Amino acid sequence: MPHLQVFNPATGAAITELSADDAASVAAKTALARSAQPAWAATPLAERKACIARFRAAIVAELDALAQTLTLEVGKPIRQSKNELNGLLGRIDFFLGHTDAVLATQTVWAEGGMTEQLDHDPLGVVANVSAWNYPYFVGGNVFVPALLTGNAVVYKPSELSSMTGLHIARLLHASGVPVGVFVPVIGGGAVGQALVEQDIDGVFFTGSYATGAKIAASVGPRMIKLQLELGGKDPTYVCDDANIAAAAESLADGAMYNAGQSCCSVERIYVHERVYAPFVHAFVTAVRGFAVGDPQDEATYLGPLARAAQLDVLEAQVADAKARGATVRLGGHRIDRPGNWFEPTVLTEVDHTMAVMRDESFGPIIGIQEVRGDEEAVRLMNDTRYGLTAGVYTPDERRARAVLGRVQAGSVYWNCCDRVSPRLPWSGRGHSGIGLTLSTAGIETFTRPRAWHLRSA
Ligand code: NAD
Repeated sequence: MPHLQVFNPATGAAITELSADDAASVAAKTALARSAQPAWAATPLAERKACIARFRAAIVAELDALAQTLTLEVGKPIRQSKNELNGLLGRIDFFLGHTDAVLATQTVWAEGGMTEQLDHDPLGVVANVSAWNYPYFVGGNVFVPALLTGNAVVYKPSELSSMTGLHIARLLHASGVPVGVFVPVIGGGAVGQALVEQDIDGVFFTGSYATGAKIAASVGPRMIKLQLELGGKDPTYVCDDANIAAAAESLADGAMYNAGQSCCSVERIYVHERVYAPFVHAFVTAVRGFAVGDPQDEATYLGPLARAAQLDVLEAQVADAKARGATVRLGGHRIDRPGNWFEPTVLTEVDHTMAVMRDESFGPIIGIQEVRGDEEAVRLMNDTRYGLTAGVYTPDERRARAVLGRVQAGSVYWNCCDRVSPRLPWSGRGHSGIGLTLSTAGIETFTRPRAWHLRSA
């Protein structure tokens, strides 16, 4: 059997070696899921919910240890790992609270002996190919509602968060989800590719645009459900009437939380020329205050990057920006220690000729660009192929709505950023993806409609 080597990104040291899958075992595991799914779909919803409720309780019972594993393998600061696990609980509660209503038979018309009803059938066997940056969030957004609605899930955690993926499988199985109904497969891109090529009924992918485009090309002709939650280059605009101290503090966190490795990290900031200088000063001061260090230390805010290769991307973006006239206000270099470390970096005097303002950085680096007003801000915010989130800071709600209503993004933020709610759909436009998770629509998405046309006589 192949193996997967797991490294600690904070030190570069090898942690463990996991048994991995290959194309043959992926096929066997998918066949197992296929055979197990009908009985799971026939299991009363109350029992499926009871399994997920036990899974929630198991997460609570093991929260500290699960957080430590996540921090060990992806380098996420321990407090942020705990935040993620606690956030998962709220999402599970939302799904548990709303699946009954989504799955209830709806009678939409009844007249003259003719009745029209709507039911929701599970898709069947779905593949969940996941990312490492928030494995509990982006995984849970898929496998929890997929299981509740009666699907079997073949789950491929990222190769960078496979220990966490195996914990998720262990806890679901211990909570009563049959081993054939939630099936982990372990490995990198080749295992993901083998999985999406199986006889499955849906692909739910979270990851980069580049991989999403490959999956879309491979899955397209098979006419199965496809959802892609991809990257972003999320912009924010700070208006001239904004509370500068509050905006700087909020945006520093939005840009640097999880070392900037969030799909909805703030990646570009536009600031009105009247407040540009004080904003930059306040922003740099806020970022300078972040504690960089051992991610297992409760005091740490900024740890290493999960992926060593991203250091080259960040270095290239800084070099490109400098060559085109940007000023490095803070950071700009790798940190000289074992593991994948990069200084929190703030660039100003940037523009859209620079890669740092166009390509996803996915690291602790941000460009701040001066703009003359709302029109220019809207034009620049829309100057991207992505469309995940966008924000505006101003006390004037009408102004914020006027700007955000013209920005192409699935989620828009007034005086906040880097925020996801289980009650609202999470979706991207353009290269940020297709489909959605979360909200009641994010439960329904794991089903297909059965339209009943019933004449009683
Ligand atoms: P990635 O695309 O490198 O990998 C994602 C997953 O796809 C991994 O499990 C990987 O093994 C697998 N994979 C790789 N090649 C494959 C192939 N050819 N066929 C099938 N599977 C394959 O992305 P990543 O580095 O894990 O995640 C970071 C990216 O994810 C960023 O772009 C980020 O913005 C995005 N993301 C988006 C959201 C969202 O909700 N929109 C959430 C989290 C992360």
